[in-house]
Amino acid sequence: MTDKMTLSDEVALVEMTDAADETTALPPAASRPPNIRLEACTHCQLKCPVCQTATGEIHKYIGAGFLKFDDFRTLVDENPWVEEVELSNNGEIFLNPHMSKIVRYAHEHNVRLTASNGVNLNTVRAKVLEDLVRYRFRHMRVSLDGASAETYEKYRVAGDFDTVIANIETLNRHKEKHASRYPELTWQFVVFGHNEHEIDDARAMAERLGMDFFMKLNWDESYSPVQDVQAVRAKQTDGVASRSEFKEKFGHHYMQRLCHQLWDQPQVNWNGEIFGCCRNTWKAFDVNAFDDGLEAALNSEQVNYARAMVTGRAEARDDVPCTTCRIYKIMQKSGRYIARD
Ligand code: SF4
Ligand code: SF4
Repeated sequence: MTDKMTLSDEVALVEMTDAADETTALPPAASRPPNIRLEACTHCQLKCPVCQTATGEIHKYIGAGFLKFDDFRTLVDENPWVEEVELSNNGEIFLNPHMSKIVRYAHEHNVRLTASNGVNLNTVRAKVLEDLVRYRFRHMRVSLDGASAETYEKYRVAGDFDTVIANIETLNRHKEKHASRYPELTWQFVVFGHNEHEIDDARAMAERLGMDFFMKLNWDESYSPVQDVQAVRAKQTDGVASRSEFKEKFGHHYMQRLCHQLWDQPQVNWNGEIFGCCRNTWKAFDVNAFDDGLEAALNSEQVNYARAMVTGRAEARDDVPCTTCRIYKIMQKSGRYIARD
């Protein structure tokens, strides 16, 4: 992954509603969401500071493993309504030894694949790189928090900047050879105090490599905080230099939009457990997509109850993971929940 706790990250203002006072009706269930998230791998070879995957802490809750091809094939076969699968979240998808087979099978069954949460792209087999292009893998966000090896490797410990750039160049050559625009690539730059001086250079490199450029705010403000706040504000889409500034300016958590994943792109773990959204790494719901069936799992009473909670239509309940989520606690305090039609 990249920045832990992430999905497609252009920070859009989520629609919000004041606390539901007048209704206890539950919001509509997800039923058959055409987009889902399915963790391809919870291992990572890098040792980024402040990452729970790097310390192994996260494995206590989501397990250490990877999506098996057979499970992926069964899920695709049994749920033809699934159109798009996001594979990245808490680990590096390219450490999954079944990646080539997964990419090919998805393509043959008209399922679009993305890694828009993020990849570090340090360790990718040559065949996989070409298969990403050959089988039209749609989009990848590449974690590159620097425009030089020295700066990049301060955070992406054990990563190799030149290798990542070389892998991007290889992908671009394959794209030319196969006359394909896929996978579309985004350069993700998490802004820290130690790399803020390279934002412009990184943006220019991204352009040269045919990549979009996205600046993301650091999730742990105690680690290498931004120094030149004014300069970063001027370069950041939302005009803020930290997540606390974001909350102050917009009145909600930087990641509150992730709650919409409960409906629009629910998170399934590599072993079929349901986590609901990509932020939840501490408690699975009590259903399993591989054992209970995807549709039944995504529409269980407990998952629907979580949907009711984040829309302000139900009280917190101990067995629901959202109850201990900081984003939910902020919503509870402010009385401003997410809005769903
Ligand atoms: S790339 Fe870094 S932040 Fe992302 S999972 Fe690996 S160690 Fe964690
Ligand atoms: S409140 Fe629930 S759905 Fe929203 S981010 Fe937290 S765990 Fe995810």
